[in-house]
Amino acid sequence: MQFRVGQIVAKCSCGSTDFKIPAEEQSGPHMNYMCADCGHITQYSKLVAQIGREASRQRKDRLATPSSESPRSEPGPAFLQRGKAARGSDPD
Ligand SMILES: [Zn+2]
Repeated sequence: MQFRVGQIVAKCSCGSTDFKIPAEEQSGPHMNYMCADCGHITQYSKLVAQIGREASRQRKDRLATPSSESPRSEPGPAFLQRGKAARGSDPD
């Protein structure tokens, strides 16, 4: 699965964007995601923080180059509660 918010996909330190949830893992802000490529464990909150940083960077880029893109893709409290809903297949 990809850990994605809007247009932003979280990456493992190895560069992979494919994550798995360890079978024994519980949903919540401290749950762990495992990289499907290298097996590196990254905490959910770290992935959220990474996406937050990327969203902030892209927002600055948008200010520099105005576009019609919607600002709705920012991570927020509703996203934090979604948890395993992000699991599953994504058509692209
Ligand atoms: Zn990895």
